[in-house]
Amino acid sequence: MRVELINTGSELLLGQVLNTHLTFLAQALWPIGLSIERQVTVPDGDAIRVALRETFGRADIVLVTGGLGPTTDDITRDIAADLLGLALENDPEIARLIEERLSTRGIPMTARILRQAQRPSTAEILHNRHGTAPGLYLAPQSLPGGGLSPHLFLLPGPPRELMPMVENEVLPRLKSLLPEGSKREMQTWRVVGVPESIVEEAVGEALIALGIEPGYCARPGEVDVRIIGSKQQITSAEVLLLDKFGSAVLPKDTRSLEQWLIEELTRRHLSIATAESCTGGGLADSLTNVPGSSAVFGYGFVTYANSAKERLGVPAELLAAHGAVSEPVARALAAATLAASGADYALATTGIAGPGGGSEEKPTGTVFIALAAKTGEVVVEKHLLKTERVTFKNLVAQRAFNLLRKKLLSAGD
Ligand code: ATP
Ligand code: MG
Repeated sequence: MRVELINTGSELLLGQVLNTHLTFLAQALWPIGLSIERQVTVPDGDAIRVALRETFGRADIVLVTGGLGPTTDDITRDIAADLLGLALENDPEIARLIEERLSTRGIPMTARILRQAQRPSTAEILHNRHGTAPGLYLAPQSLPGGGLSPHLFLLPGPPRELMPMVENEVLPRLKSLLPEGSKREMQTWRVVGVPESIVEEAVGEALIALGIEPGYCARPGEVDVRIIGSKQQITSAEVLLLDKFGSAVLPKDTRSLEQWLIEELTRRHLSIATAESCTGGGLADSLTNVPGSSAVFGYGFVTYANSAKERLGVPAELLAAHGAVSEPVARALAAATLAASGADYALATTGIAGPGGGSEEKPTGTVFIALAAKTGEVVVEKHLLKTERVTFKNLVAQRAFNLLRKKLLSAGD
């Protein structure tokens, strides 16, 4: 079944309102086995005629949003009736519902409002419990110029009217059009610390051989691998991903590395503290975005200046001898943080975000990330991350969290 979506509304094309209907509808249709294959946005008015006519003969199901209201530019139902060669009839039941709704609000009925009670003769009403204009469903019918019209759903523009209508009126009708067993499963795995191209190269062909069309979505420091298919295919994909990437694959349904860390530290009754130079509080920000983080995260220092690092306990001589961006300073910063906070683990970051500040010995993008443990052990990673400033900070945070993750995994339960 080919589904197309037409969003109407000049405000969408003027950039005043974000088209959330596309996202909402795509997500609502997906689980029942339907995908939107084409979407267009048109301004209010007659432009919808061209857009709708274009779908005839091509689409099986067409959803139109907006333009069902009382104003003169709300002409979706008029155009649909016209294209299908249907007369608009006054529906006394809709009129009664509209009058009832208006009277409870003390709004007088006008001819313009009553236009919303008009219905193309063969249309079924989709009830609107949150507004006056009902939605309309038009089953396939012979077109004046020959051929059959698609299943046509005319839906209201306001999201709070659209959403319940889709749930209660549209999805049940669509489900009845589909064969049994068209329901789909989707699972997304997050692979951390492996570049997208490597992920694709390692599993892409094998996944396709399993009959799966994988989707990849890369963000700084992580890649989501999305698998759509049967339960069996999803299980096979998981086995493959775990085999290739092992612990770099976050457990299913983990939204982020920091969420995993907070949950894992909580489970083990351990705590984490941070001292950040180049990330400027990014680690603390990400950690505290996770609900429940207070159980494991009590101290986050932003030690941007050398004097701040000294105050926390990094020896001045060390800073003078090696510079702030150095292995010994990262190490000392993590150790000092551990001492100041009493936490079980401390992460420290110090690097050159750029664009300036680099040297031949320490080019822009150089960063040292240290992890100190209460056991006395300190590990330091050095990376060269050549990118712009904000991405650099995000990448460093990812690497830092991944360092702690690896530590926790290797420490066992
Ligand atoms: P109304 O009776 O309110 O006129 P309508 O069915 O004619 O309803 P529109 O006039 O197109 O719908 O839109 C009404 C409201 O819904 C507007 O505030 C608009 O910003 C919002 N809206 C319309 N389309 C979208 C969309 N695609 N995404 C998000 N909001 C939308
Ligand atoms: Mg309107």
